Amino acid sequence: MTGSTCSAGYVGLTFDDGPNASTTNQIISTLRQYGATAAVFPTGQNAQNNATLMQAYKNAGFQIGNHSWDHPHLVQQSQSQVQSQLSRTQQAIQQTAGVTPTVFRPPYGETNATVSSVASSLGLRVVTWDVDSTDWNNASAASIRQAATRLTDGQTILLHDWPAATVQALPGILQDLRSRNLCTGHISAGTGRVVAPAGSGGGTTPPPTTPPPTGGGGGSCTATATKGQEWGDRFNVTYAVRASGSWAVTVYPNTGQSIQSSWGATRNGTTFTGSGNASFGVTYYKGSQNITWVPTGICSPR
Ligand code: ZN
Repeated sequence: MTGSTCSAGYVGLTFDDGPNASTTNQIISTLRQYGATAAVFPTGQNAQNNATLMQAYKNAGFQIGNHSWDHPHLVQQSQSQVQSQLSRTQQAIQQTAGVTPTVFRPPYGETNATVSSVASSLGLRVVTWDVDSTDWNNASAASIRQAATRLTDGQTILLHDWPAATVQALPGILQDLRSRNLCTGHISAGTGRVVAPAGSGGGTTPPPTTPPPTGGGGGSCTATATKGQEWGDRFNVTYAVRASGSWAVTVYPNTGQSIQSSWGATRNGTTFTGSGNASFGVTYYKGSQNITWVPTGICSPR
């Protein structure tokens, strides 16, 4: 990034809905050429289906956020559906890119109290955007580039990892930012504003996830998952629950995984109930995709 001073601050180029085989590599290559970075918000489904491109995001030093599993209107979903959408995506990103997102961009920018509280329980800050490039609505490369000129220090622009016009607009956007002494940065999970990427040189990863905040009233609980014995087609996981009262822990197996059996707690589907400090175990089938990751257990007081 020779000759660039960043004296006007940092802005966030954010790319939603990737990764995919047609545009992701081009976007990475252009950003690298300009010594720039980005925040990407893949869906969990795309992450799972494009593990190599998720690694490419990571290796490029991009910040990787959560964008739900398959892009529904979350405000029309129940709390457990929202929880599944976000939790499965956290797991898919962890499995493919090896990082734990700390920011969540709701599809369509739609959020409500349920979405906020589920995001918060997973250590995710909900972030939208300051400038909409409207690249999702067939905007031309010229108008996408024009939109980016409205960015000021700390702000983000909504872009997508799929429109051809976005790929075409990117070099011009980066030239314009450079001439305005603006650099590209990452979104602070603390403030929601864009800041310099942690660690200079661009090879950064999001900070490690913070423990989920505990619920305000009526007690709290946590469930810690530990992988146990493994066989060819299945494996055990033990969940250690710390709670002051009655609790319910919901587990989120990945696509293809399923519960074979469990012990130590009352089970109803993927939810286990009990009381006080306790532990229970689950045997998961790996399924046809041979998935051995350990499903998260989300604990709620009840
Ligand atoms: Zn989207």
